[in-house]
Amino acid sequence: KNLLEVSGVHASVDGKEILSGLDLSVAPGETHVIMGPNGAGKSTLGNVILGNPEYKLDAGTITFDGADITAEKTDARARRGLFMSFQSPEEVPGVTLEDFLRVSKAAVTGKPLKVFAFQKELKKTMEALSMDEEYAHRYLNVGFSGGEKKKAEILQMLILQPKLAILDETDSGLDVDAVRIVSEGIRRYKNENNALLIITHNAKILEGLKVDYVHVLADGKIIHTGGPELIDEISREGFRRLEEGAAQ
Ligand code: ADP
Ligand code: MG
Ligand code: MG
Repeated sequence: KNLLEVSGVHASVDGKEILSGLDLSVAPGETHVIMGPNGAGKSTLGNVILGNPEYKLDAGTITFDGADITAEKTDARARRGLFMSFQSPEEVPGVTLEDFLRVSKAAVTGKPLKVFAFQKELKKTMEALSMDEEYAHRYLNVGFSGGEKKKAEILQMLILQPKLAILDETDSGLDVDAVRIVSEGIRRYKNENNALLIITHNAKILEGLKVDYVHVLADGKIIHTGGPELIDEISREGFRRLEEGAAQ
């Protein structure tokens, strides 16, 4: 039984078709990596799965955890256990990181938080990510470095414990230490019941993770699916050979 099923999805932004007949199935426990040239539609795919209203779904269906979520709003999808970390996280002056995490956790679980337990979990998780406790009281992402923003997102994922986490280029702009910490955070999240969809070009972030499938997205479709060996092949040879193969 699949956790996520994307079938025949066509999606557009400002009247321009970006995804043109995309299929993707993710089962519980699996880790999928999405690679592909710039502008191929990788971030668009994540946004469409999350139901970002900027992206128009022109055809196709999305089911998640046994329910058809094609017409659902983003907050409803989040309550079902979908999570996405963004390529460029927003700064939110006036809302501290801790407030933000508390509000999102309560919204996703639909239950009032146990304050003491929440604080304990927050402290423990921040320690695991080598984040200074002081960050909990800073305004969300304001003045955070690229690495700190990414850690804040991994922290949010660990606190929310989604069933499926979509990580969009969580490694871009990170130094080697931050990549290692983010990668540890991802391993900490992953278990046999939840799933990961990672958009990345960086094999380093995947270290220590068991990758089940690698998909190459080009021209709005998945043109090739393989195992983890594709990651090295693409780092060596780029996408051209796969794109040419798909065009024939
Ligand atoms: P990738 O993540 O693979 O680099 P994107 O999904 O970000 O690709 O973008 C695919 C195409 O859709 C690009 O041509 C991009 O300019 C366009 N696009 C994506 N998001 C938007 C948006 N919010 N507004 C306008 N165009 C967009
Ligand atoms: Mg891009
Ligand atoms: Mg992108």
